[in-house]
Amino acid sequence: MIPKSSRRSNVDEIHNTVLKFLRSIIQEVNRAENIDQALTIIVTRVKKELSADACSVYLLDHRNPDSDGRETLILSATDGLLPQSVGEVRLKFGEGIVGLVAERAEPINLASAAEHPSYSYFPETGEAKFHGFLGVPIIHHRRVLGVLVLQQQQESHYNEDDETLLITVAAQLTGAIASAEVSGGVSAQADRRRVERKPLHGIAGAPGIAMGRAVLVVAQLTFDVVAERTIPDEEVEVEQQRLRVAIEAVKQDLLQMESNLDGQLLLNDSALFEAYRMILDGDSFRSRILEEIATGVAAPGALRRVVTSHVEAFSSMEDLYLRSRAEDILDLGLRLLTKLQPNEAPKQKYPKNTILVADIVTAAMLAEVPIRRLQGIVSRRGSGTSHTAILAKALGIPAVLGVDELPLSRVNALEMIVDGNQGEVILRPTKQIKKEYRQLLNQQQQQDSALEAIYQYPAITADGIKVQLLANTGLMAELLEKERSQTDGVGLYRTEYPFMVRDRFPGEKEQVRVYRKVLQEFHPLPVTMRTLDIGGDKALPYFPMVEDNPFLGWRGIRFTLDHPEIFLAQLRAMLQANAGLGNLRILFPMICTLKELDDSLVLLHQAQEELQQEQGITEHPEVGVMIEVPSAVYLLPQIAERADFISIGSNDLTQYLLAVDRNNAQVSELYDSLHPSVIHVLKYITDQARISGIEVSVCGEMAGDPVAAFLLLGLGITRLSMNVSSLARVKWMIRNSSQKRSREVIPELLRLDSADAIRKRLLEISPH
Ligand code: PEP
Ligand code: MG
Repeated sequence: MIPKSSRRSNVDEIHNTVLKFLRSIIQEVNRAENIDQALTIIVTRVKKELSADACSVYLLDHRNPDSDGRETLILSATDGLLPQSVGEVRLKFGEGIVGLVAERAEPINLASAAEHPSYSYFPETGEAKFHGFLGVPIIHHRRVLGVLVLQQQQESHYNEDDETLLITVAAQLTGAIASAEVSGGVSAQADRRRVERKPLHGIAGAPGIAMGRAVLVVAQLTFDVVAERTIPDEEVEVEQQRLRVAIEAVKQDLLQMESNLDGQLLLNDSALFEAYRMILDGDSFRSRILEEIATGVAAPGALRRVVTSHVEAFSSMEDLYLRSRAEDILDLGLRLLTKLQPNEAPKQKYPKNTILVADIVTAAMLAEVPIRRLQGIVSRRGSGTSHTAILAKALGIPAVLGVDELPLSRVNALEMIVDGNQGEVILRPTKQIKKEYRQLLNQQQQQDSALEAIYQYPAITADGIKVQLLANTGLMAELLEKERSQTDGVGLYRTEYPFMVRDRFPGEKEQVRVYRKVLQEFHPLPVTMRTLDIGGDKALPYFPMVEDNPFLGWRGIRFTLDHPEIFLAQLRAMLQANAGLGNLRILFPMICTLKELDDSLVLLHQAQEELQQEQGITEHPEVGVMIEVPSAVYLLPQIAERADFISIGSNDLTQYLLAVDRNNAQVSELYDSLHPSVIHVLKYITDQARISGIEVSVCGEMAGDPVAAFLLLGLGITRLSMNVSSLARVKWMIRNSSQKRSREVIPELLRLDSADAIRKRLLEISPH
């Protein structure tokens, strides 16, 4: 008998081998230049790993349906069958064993395929000699994309390990295959130029619709090609000087880029460039390269060493924000390399209707495009809270980020539609789709200009109810003067933005300056400032947090209460900024226990007392609580005893109620604020708030969606805080609605079964 410990290590060994295989095949597939290459890698590697006699992939080809209009499977790659059969063998769903695997969406493992009633023989494949058959479906987002097949001459079943490994490989490769499908790879042999028109889904990074041509930005140079040249001692000084010159040149370029954006951005945004400059001047970068040169390596090689080690260190960090800093370092490194190499790469050209596309769009890439030419932004990775998203929103450029199916190697110069409202990208749109989008754009423009007229009228319903329309902000650049004058104040000032674009916690005085500017800008209208809500997906570059479940972890008030020094500085800054103005309201995020609220109030009172003594500041702002964690919903009467108002954060409330990560594209179809449970909870909150007599508003995205806002109106909510771009449409809805009508439909809506049904009914009855 094998002793227990050695059995364990045997299992570990197998486990490690399998993981190694999976990792390496995925890496190879991701590096493939096109789908044919990717599929070839899959079949040859899998065949070898599982010692099969043949491995083949059949993919769905829904552009060439059968005569009944049903999708067909086409043999797309093989190692073991006759190569000329690729692109020739076609099967309907349910036809042959492969078709059966696709139809049932489950594996089939046979000792002798020919004996199966569904067996159908394709002589062109030369498969007569094979008996053992294992086919597993390739499934992406519940849809069968194809079938991965192993065959062997031996007349026996594949064992369970082989079967589970094949299932794992198929599951792991769906992303790559789905993106291949998107780029027309399925019928690549038949028609390389045809590209699927179905939308690719990503995260809506910045609203709006753009139509244009993709400009794929890839690093012109890579560090892979940099050879390390050793230098004699007497050249060290020369190389070090070369590096200094290159750094200065890159800094000049950054200044130039910044001035390209001049007037488009305010102070906070410029801090992004400042961060780049800080890296360039920082000891851990500049000095380390100089040190490497001093060891006898020419500047490019020294640069490569330092950049590579920085990039590795950042890339391995769990924190999304810090991981994305690796991209910044690499970007900067390549800029320096370009300066150090005598043959400068040709300058990228940007057409008039540029859609900037990259694996990750960095702030610097974005700034390099002449701003008038930049119509849209699309990235394969990246999240809604990335710098790019912040910048894109500030510049008013539609952006869709995190489009994991984006076939990067094929998109350059393609026509594209970027729908930043829905978080969708359409490649090579058909004439019809372009027409529809053009109509949509026209409609939007017409609506926008029709809505201009609405600015002069108040937000009052047909039955005379005044609705307060407030702005959500965090970057001043988001608010144009005209829009600013249309709001009843700021309903949510997200203070984390000024924290995120810096390289350290901003000091009390600095915060006073930032907050005072906002308070003055809106005075005498109220400005609701939320205390720092970092954590979750909003990390600070200078305060890494590594957590398994960041959205359920150290976030919002939990963090600030654990760091009273940071919390107090912020509260003190807010109170000082409010001195003599009095339009500040303070809002606490992520409250889930009464103790958190009590502790926060203790700190607020402490700050008030200190400032009264130190500076004679006597203004005491109203205090509010965000209702965004389900536990807070059931504490409303007690919250009402302690606070002046509540603000419903429908974004997080939806996330926590439905247990759906609001940023995860994989489950984004489940994330819907019109889910019946969310509506029931909103009803409960508004009823409780009425009983307790506490003011209630909504500051999540729901408030800015006219259809959802109609429902909120029916629940009695007359304070809505939204992105300024939604103001006019919501005002139009309000002016064309009566609160009585919206109230009447609530019971009916509460009886509906799904978000889709609720939306459908709202679309029928609400003006939008
Ligand atoms: C919310 O959760 O609805 C909200 C307004 O806060 P944030 O989107 O900043 O989490
Ligand atoms: Mg929130």
